Amino acid sequence: MSNLPENSFFESLKAEDLSGVAYKNHLLKKKVLNYFSNFGNSTIQDLSKALNISTPKMGQIILELTENGVVQDYGKVDSSVGRRPNQYGLNASSAFFVGIEVKKEYINLGLTDFKNQLLKFLPHIPYNLDNTEEALDELCKIINQQIDKFNVPKSKIIGIGINLSGRINYKTGYSYSYFNFSENPLSKVFRTKTGFPTFLENDSRAMAFGEFKGGGIVKEEKNVLFINVGYGIGMGIMINGELVYGKSGFSGEIGHIPLFENEIICHCGKKGCLETEASGRALISKFYKKLQEGSQSTLSHRIKSENDLKLNDIINAALNDDVLAIELIDEIGKKLGRGISALLHLYNPELVIIGGSLAKTGDYLFLPIKMAINKYSLSLVSNDSKIVLSELGEKAGALGACQLVRKRLLQSE
Ligand SMILES: [Zn+2]
Repeated sequence: MSNLPENSFFESLKAEDLSGVAYKNHLLKKKVLNYFSNFGNSTIQDLSKALNISTPKMGQIILELTENGVVQDYGKVDSSVGRRPNQYGLNASSAFFVGIEVKKEYINLGLTDFKNQLLKFLPHIPYNLDNTEEALDELCKIINQQIDKFNVPKSKIIGIGINLSGRINYKTGYSYSYFNFSENPLSKVFRTKTGFPTFLENDSRAMAFGEFKGGGIVKEEKNVLFINVGYGIGMGIMINGELVYGKSGFSGEIGHIPLFENEIICHCGKKGCLETEASGRALISKFYKKLQEGSQSTLSHRIKSENDLKLNDIINAALNDDVLAIELIDEIGKKLGRGISALLHLYNPELVIIGGSLAKTGDYLFLPIKMAINKYSLSLVSNDSKIVLSELGEKAGALGACQLVRKRLLQSE
């Protein structure tokens, strides 16, 4: 079923049947590719030093990788100190990755090359996320249609990353919140239906990875939290520069921390979760309740039931100065800030990034969050943490998905 040529370099990276010297070479190739990916172009001499491999051996590895087409000779770099050896680096067009972020009412799709450059970003492709087999088929249909339109050979697309909300075990490829219909892991189902190796990831973690590795907002920081505020609330955690998964990939479920004494049943079945007071879902039900009580909004005239209210409507209303929308976003921002102050005490992060759909409302959400953090956290602790709004915005998820596929492919353990 795979679109990949059987003998392609990337198929060989799986190295299922390798042993002895061949296996060692294979690991070394991955290390070299990772080095290029982390530090950019390099000479054979510098690579030998960095990876502690003899220069002739490294020369041989680079020769093979160049013949495979994944590494490119970038020529000599001008220097005032005389003759300089050639620089080598990744060949951007040797491989491509597709990243898909599945949201409730649309999908965002991205395409990156082997150097992690985002070549295409297609936001808001209409899609209705239901937990049904039909919705799964529809999703695969859209993915296939979009890939057909890309101007890159299918044989060079070496993996798809798909972000879904809820519980995902990325190692086994099982999704427990959406599309759990088959005995096979969902990643395998996607592979069968699309023909491409597929990797699943929790949406918040993939967005976080996009921010950590490609946003420009994370510089030297190694301990970063990314808060995804959309219909629900999720979190991606980076500790010492590495994503945190927990035992089965379920870490970061801050939305379901029971922070409030209320009688609101969360969609997870419990009550008092942070999501019942501070998420997009909470915003929608508060907004509808206010309309029923007689509050006026620019949306009043077309809302007959709570189902008519979409998160984006309220976000857009706030951006168009709708007072009810602004007041309620302020209210959920304060509650979210209370939740985040708990996180500051737990993690002592250097940076906290506020992202997800609701971050589009900018200061309407951001200022109450900051106020609540000041109110609820020890200043000695909160002074350590810079709180910022996402700069990548909607691109974070699709970009992170692409980057995670590449990372998994190049992993050497
Ligand atoms: Zn819950």
